Amino acid sequence: MKLPLLRKILLPLIVLVNCIGFSNASIKVINELKSCLETNASNTTSIFVARNTHSERYNSVNYQWNTNSEIFPLAYIVPQTTKDVQNAVRCGKASKVRMFPKSGGHSYEKYSFGDSESVVVDLANLSEIRVNKAGKTAQIGAGALLSKVYFTLWTNGKFGLPSTSCTGVGIGGAALGGGYGFWSKRFGLTSDNVIGMDFVDPQGNLLKVKRNSNPDLFWALGGGGLGNFGIVTNFEFKIFDAASLNVKQIVLKFCVNLFEQIFSGFQTLVYERRNGNPYIGMTITPQDITVKIIDTDLSDADIRKIVDRFPPQMLKPVSVKSMDFFELTLENSTPETKTPEDLLKVSRMSTSKHGYRAKSYFSSKILNHRKIAQLKPSLSSVPSGIFLQFGSFGGAVNQIPKNETSFVHRDSLYLIQVGISPSDEHSKTELQQRIWLREFNNVAQVLDNGESYQNYVDGELKNDFLQRYYGDNVRRLIEIKRQIDPDNYFAYEQSIPLRNP
Ligand SMILES: Cc1cc2nc3c(=O)[nH]c(=O)nc-3n(C[C@H](O)[C@H](O)[C@H](O)COP(=O)(O)OP(=O)(O)OC[C@H]3O[C@@H](n4cnc5c(N)ncnc54)[C@H](O)[C@@H]3O)c2cc1C
Repeated sequence: MKLPLLRKILLPLIVLVNCIGFSNASIKVINELKSCLETNASNTTSIFVARNTHSERYNSVNYQWNTNSEIFPLAYIVPQTTKDVQNAVRCGKASKVRMFPKSGGHSYEKYSFGDSESVVVDLANLSEIRVNKAGKTAQIGAGALLSKVYFTLWTNGKFGLPSTSCTGVGIGGAALGGGYGFWSKRFGLTSDNVIGMDFVDPQGNLLKVKRNSNPDLFWALGGGGLGNFGIVTNFEFKIFDAASLNVKQIVLKFCVNLFEQIFSGFQTLVYERRNGNPYIGMTITPQDITVKIIDTDLSDADIRKIVDRFPPQMLKPVSVKSMDFFELTLENSTPETKTPEDLLKVSRMSTSKHGYRAKSYFSSKILNHRKIAQLKPSLSSVPSGIFLQFGSFGGAVNQIPKNETSFVHRDSLYLIQVGISPSDEHSKTELQQRIWLREFNNVAQVLDNGESYQNYVDGELKNDFLQRYYGDNVRRLIEIKRQIDPDNYFAYEQSIPLRNP
C-alpha cells in the first residue's frame, strides 16, 4: 500500500486519540507507533484500528466471546502479509509497546487480547490455505480458523488434519500449544504434524523454522509457542488422506447416578485401547453423562464389545452412526454448521458471548471402586453449566518421547477438563465461577498426574504453571527464550520467562 492510502487509514486514529481521552503516555505511544508505521509505509499494508469503544470497527475486531474481564487494547494492527507483521513488531518494539499475536482468539484467559496498554496483532487476514495434493502437505496462514482448514482440505482432495473439534479455534493457537482432537491417537497432535513455519522474531526478522533449520525454535514452537517467542505467520503441515476413513461414532447417554459403573467402564476401555486409534470421551454434567467413541472400520461385534463395557440402563438407545471424516467434522463442529458451506461462515464473532473458565489435568491413573466412589458425591452438588470432560490420550501422541518436542504430556491415558460455562444467573459472576471450579477441582485432583494442558490456560495456576504445562522441558524452553527474545518482549502472565522463577 502506498503512503497516501496508509495515511488515510491512520488519519482517523488522530481523531480518535483526541475524542476518547487517552492518557498522555498512550497518546505518545500511539503517535510513535503511527509515525514508525508511516515511515515504513511503502512496505506496509496493515490496517490500524485504535481504541474507540464507540466505533463499530474497533468493537468488531475486539469481539470477545468470553465475557469474563473484558479487555480494551490500545489498538489493533491487522496485517495483510508477513512483511506487515515484521513491520508491526519492529515498530512496536521501537515504540516500547507490547504486541500480542491473535489467531482465533480462543485463549481461555484471553492472552491474545493483551491489556489496555498493548497492541494486538490480529492475524485474521493471514488465512490463505494451499494444498499440495501430491506431497500431502498444506500451507496454512496462521490466522485461519479450523472451520476453513477442515473445509479447504476436504474439498481439495479429501484430506484432513488432526486438530480440535471446535471449528472456531484458530490454527495458530491450536498448533503452537498442541491441538488435540478425535484423530490425535491416530495421527498425532496438530503440533506433531507441523513441517515448517514462517516466524517473525522480536527484532522483526523473518525466520524459516524447520526441524533442520532453526531446530531449537522448531522444538520450542511444537507445544510451547503460544505468544512466547514471536509470531508465526504461516505453517506447513503434513496432512492425511481422509477419503477412505469409514468412521463410526457411538454415543451412549446415562443418568448421573450410574457414575461409578460408567467411570469404571470408561477407564477400562481407555486402558485397553491405549495403544490403538479410537477416541473415547466422556462428559459429565449435573444432568447426565455422555460417552462418545469414534473409530474406523468397527464391525457390529466390535461395537457390541464396546457397549457391553457400560451398564445397560441408558437414557436413550445407543446411537451408532456411520459417516465419512467430513460428516463427523461437521456434526461435531457447532450447532450452526449444518452444511459444508456453513463452515465457511464461521467467524471470530460466531461464538456467542458467555463466561468461561476451566482447569485441566492429565491422568494415567486407574482408580479402584473405593476411589471412584469418593468422586461421586461432589458430582451431585454442582450447578448447571459446569462439566467434567475426559478425552483419551495414547496412540500416536504417546509414541513420541516426552522431550522430542516441547509438548511434554506424552504418557497419559486421558486429559480432563473441568469447565464452567454459566447458564444461570447464580454462577455468572467470575467469583462464583472460580468457587464452583475449585470445589469441582477436588474431584479431578484425585486423578491428577501433576500436568495441565497449556492450550487450556488457567490463570489460577500461579507458582507451578510452568511445571504443569511443560514439565522437564521447561529448562530448554527458558534457554531458547533467552536466545530468541532476550528482552522478554513477548511476555504475559504465563509466558516463558528468561529464567526459572
Ligand atoms: C470453545 C473451545 C473449544 C476448544 N476445543 C479444543 C479442543 O478440542 N482441543 C484442543 O486442543 N484445544 C481446544 N481448545 C483450546 C484451544 O486449542 C486454545 O485455546 C488455542 O490456543 C486457541 O487458539 P486460537 O488461535 O483460537 O487462540 P488465540 O487466543 O488467538 O491464541 C492463543 C494463544 O496463542 C498465541 N498465538 C496465537 N496465534 C499465534 C501466532 N501465530 N504466533 C504466536 N503466538 C500465537 C496468543 O497470543 C495466545 O497466547 C478449545 C478452546 C475453546 C474456547
